[in-house]
Amino acid sequence: ASTPLDSPTIFDKIVNKEIPANVVYEDDKVLAFRDINPQAPTHILIIPKVKDGLSGLSKAEERHCEVLGRLLYTAKLVAKQEGLEDGFRVVINDGPAGCQSVYHIHVHVLGGRQMNWPPG
Ligand code: 5GP
Repeated sequence: ASTPLDSPTIFDKIVNKEIPANVVYEDDKVLAFRDINPQAPTHILIIPKVKDGLSGLSKAEERHCEVLGRLLYTAKLVAKQEGLEDGFRVVINDGPAGCQSVYHIHVHVLGGRQMNWPPG
């Protein structure tokens, strides 16, 4: 049976401190932590603390605009904090064809090496 998209994910456990994470930024709305399986020297995930139906970007509603902006702005803050002044990449994977594996929206920030385009 498939998991309902509004079910809790491993990221709720990270928000609730039930499992550890290497947190690099936190405020009342968002949490940023290092990816457990990094694809670049810097690989950070930024998530809303409350999912509010945002299992992925494709589920966004008008009410999510503020948190979506907050996620992107946090990507900028984290990139600066990580010293990625040469550039970095921001990714949101959505759905099976987008290789999404955790259904709690998250922004990847990748940097510290040359990125390639197209990404493949
Ligand atoms: P997605 O494939 O959904 O875009 O990205 C999910 C990301 O979450 C993957 O890059 C994966 O390595 C990361 N991830 C999965 N479980 C954990 C975890 O328990 N802790 C951390 N820090 N990252 C995780």
